[in-house]
Amino acid sequence: MSEARGARRSGSLCGLTLTWLVAFAGHTSSQADASAVVAGAHFALHAPSLSPAGARRALAVADAAWDATTALTGLRPAGRGKPLPIHVHATTAAYRAVDRRLTGGRFRKNGAFAHWDTRSAHIEYAPPLAVPRQRAVDVPFQTLRLLSHEAAHLTCFALTTNYRDHPEWFSEGIATNVTEIVAKRTGLIESIEDDPYFGRKMIRVIELARRDRLPTVESILNDDLDGLPWLDAYAVRWAFFRVLRLRHGDALTRFCVAVSRMRRSPAFTRRCRERLERVVGKRPVAVALEESVRGFRPRWVELSRSLETAGDEWVQRAFPRVNAIAWRIEPVGADAYTLAGRVTFGGEGETPQMNVLLDRQRSGFVSVALQPNRVTVLERDATQRTWRRVITRQLERPVSEKAPFSVRCADRRLTVSFGGATLEATLPDRTLRGPWGLGVQAGDWGTWHGVALETR
Ligand SMILES: [Zn+2]
Repeated sequence: MSEARGARRSGSLCGLTLTWLVAFAGHTSSQADASAVVAGAHFALHAPSLSPAGARRALAVADAAWDATTALTGLRPAGRGKPLPIHVHATTAAYRAVDRRLTGGRFRKNGAFAHWDTRSAHIEYAPPLAVPRQRAVDVPFQTLRLLSHEAAHLTCFALTTNYRDHPEWFSEGIATNVTEIVAKRTGLIESIEDDPYFGRKMIRVIELARRDRLPTVESILNDDLDGLPWLDAYAVRWAFFRVLRLRHGDALTRFCVAVSRMRRSPAFTRRCRERLERVVGKRPVAVALEESVRGFRPRWVELSRSLETAGDEWVQRAFPRVNAIAWRIEPVGADAYTLAGRVTFGGEGETPQMNVLLDRQRSGFVSVALQPNRVTVLERDATQRTWRRVITRQLERPVSEKAPFSVRCADRRLTVSFGGATLEATLPDRTLRGPWGLGVQAGDWGTWHGVALETR
């Protein structure tokens, strides 16, 4: 997210000059903050709550976003400028304070923004975590994803002088695609198909196409997506720009260079549209977009963030008031199967909880709630919005790290093994063949190790 031209028209931005003190709002010791700055060739990262290794990792992601943006656009900076500041704010309150100060609070729900006048980016550490703990854990994908997105915007600020006039399909198309490129390049995801966040993005676009609501190329290029929910609009711009990138890469690069040379003007968006239509043709892009969307094959969908599925250790973190939930797309489709792995609780509370989810149906699902000292099987009725406790067992001894679990489903029967306990339950109304998923209770986080499904 970077500032949109609407804000200028409404006059809510007043060209504030950022002082370092403003940037450090929410922190008390400017000396401590100064020591927490990690500067590279392009960016200066202010992230006092991260460990030195975490800050280096974050800076590497920002640098990768710089490289991806210059490669994608074919643009190079005119000269060597000062590193552009990126701030990772340790708390929601600190982020919101800066957002209020710089933009009047326009990016409260975004969790990140790039600011035109100061050419700085601000990112909220997310999902939230107690500040002292932020030093001890890897930087969440959610935070690094926002960081790469904003770093792409800052790169465009450095590469062009007319960035305030860039249409949103262009600026957000670049930023969302750079995020994808960087996530893959830095190992944050293995593929968009195997990542729950990108899975959700694909599902948004697939759903729009299914309902015949996918915007036309013309309305995308006119920035006329006002009828769409904002996250759908982001998904559409990502998918559209992705088609340009993957199918018309050379033409796109030439177009980006041409855009960088255009004079600022109220007709900037129209001129961009006309130029792009000349370069790639309206009809071929529309066809390519439809084909691309038909070809989307996500294997995960994230209902609420966030599950990181790269590698064998999957960290899942929940926001404070929403349970994190990610589902496999495909039903298990077998009469008998075992879902097994190990779990490490990371939550701070007395009863952290991670959930193995089963048999996703319109009517509801089954949740196997794992806690250090207890295991419970629950059934969710989605229509009534109620929970039914099927069976629960207190463990004789609390489990420690990497506690093994297994959930066996066969003939409407469920057998759960965890922490030395075995629970059995029959669910006569369920085939248990629907998709499985993983969840973490609101405010908690933890790690899933080597989760695997075996059918037989
Ligand atoms: Zn953006």
